[in-house]
Amino acid sequence: MAEWEAVIGLEVHVQLATASKLFSGSSTDFGSEPNALTDPTVLGLPGALPALNGRALELAIQLGAAVGSSIRRRSRFARKHYFYPDLPKGYQISQYDQPLCEGGAVELRGSGEARTVRLRRIHMEEDAGKSIHGARGHSLVDLNRAGVPLCEIVSEPDIRSGDEAAEFMRALRQLVRYLGVSGGDMEKGQLRCDANVSVRPAGSERYGTRTELKNINSFRFVKQAIENEIGRQTRILEGGGTIVQETRLWDADAGVSHPMRSKEEAEDYRYFPDPDLPPLEVSDEFLARVEGSLPELPAARFDRLVRDYGLSEDDARTLTQERTLADYFDRAVSAYAESSTKAASGAKALANWIQSELLRELGREGRDAASAPVSPESLAGLVRLIDDGTISGKIAKDVFAKMYASGEPAEAIVEREGLRQITDQGEIEAIAREVVEANPGQVEAYRGGKHKMLGFFVGQVMKRTGGKANPKAVNEILTRLLDAPG
Ligand code: ADP
Ligand code: MG
Repeated sequence: MAEWEAVIGLEVHVQLATASKLFSGSSTDFGSEPNALTDPTVLGLPGALPALNGRALELAIQLGAAVGSSIRRRSRFARKHYFYPDLPKGYQISQYDQPLCEGGAVELRGSGEARTVRLRRIHMEEDAGKSIHGARGHSLVDLNRAGVPLCEIVSEPDIRSGDEAAEFMRALRQLVRYLGVSGGDMEKGQLRCDANVSVRPAGSERYGTRTELKNINSFRFVKQAIENEIGRQTRILEGGGTIVQETRLWDADAGVSHPMRSKEEAEDYRYFPDPDLPPLEVSDEFLARVEGSLPELPAARFDRLVRDYGLSEDDARTLTQERTLADYFDRAVSAYAESSTKAASGAKALANWIQSELLRELGREGRDAASAPVSPESLAGLVRLIDDGTISGKIAKDVFAKMYASGEPAEAIVEREGLRQITDQGEIEAIAREVVEANPGQVEAYRGGKHKMLGFFVGQVMKRTGGKANPKAVNEILTRLLDAPG
């Protein structure tokens, strides 16, 4: 039986995080009353003229620069015609033959082998409205989305599996959130994708006939819809059939796709330059300013954490997932380094605290690291107290819980509640003697060879000291007392 290889290219729409629409002043507030966010331009009323939102342009250029696209100094907007109730003008303003960004690539470096997905282009366009079907047999139209600024990112067909496609989407989500270009929330429709899928015999150079899957609105569905389509096409080809080039609609509830329409060709849209909008010129100064304002990107940050702090790739991946969390980590490490010479071991300890305690609490509340009740400086303070022996690691967990609840620094809690570790040998020995004297039976058992009994004595000392005795000292002292004859 032939081995088949899947070939996938994605067309991804990202909603740009602007306050107003792409060509007019209406707000982009999500969740407003239907049709509250309209104006003559959005409604396509005669005489209304579009004017480009400069912030949208800036965000689009940031995105293009971050993926290494070349930014055209001169691009233009085109009308893409189609008839649909949620598109009052009868055309969508998009870009066609002169997109803002060309080329570029996205690196996939999840847990598998690193791969590069090349990009064909990124262009700007406006979103359409939304039709809501089925209200008492009627269809309703909400134009709040109409005119919302989008970037469409078109990949080359470099993706080879549903998993890789989902990884590509995750990488884009991470990137747009780092840049602040978009919220990247698939559930809110801020990030959407159409998947072009074909299948060919492994080793073949030629692409097979593709279908385009629409309506994929979660990371899980990206993978599911593509895997389902690869399976469908493979079965047809193995049965000697041929693939029909068409657009298919993914039905997430049923877990299958249905044919929607035969693939339209570019000529069906009758693209032509929008005469209402002048050619889009990007000056060298503007481009340099936007490029200069880019933050450290996720891939560079990942590399830095591994290189400078010796973190494992898994740790670095988790910590760089969100920019706010990566910022939290960096701030904690520098606060720690200011007061300690052991910066590298501190970084590892901080990485552990963030990934276990902090992320668990934040996750419980659905909260972002930027608003964590424990500041990065406070967390560094806690780790310092463990390092210098002021508190034990076990007590530190309780202290962290109190810090999280109250927002107080570790030092204040430790002082007020008297949680300092008891390291004074004499003090520990006095308590250990009491425990030994109070338990003659256990002493006899220990001396008779039951050395496991040591754990019992350690437990008793810890109980009497509220867990504050230095465990190493307790062990040493008890061993000495118990091993001493009579
Ligand atoms: P159209 O002009 O019809 O939109 P494009 O050539 O621009 O088509 O490609 C659209 C998307 O389809 C791109 O992401 C591209 O990578 C992908 N694509 C093109 N050919 C194939 C194919 N044979 N199999 C899978 N994806 C493909
Ligand atoms: Mg296309």
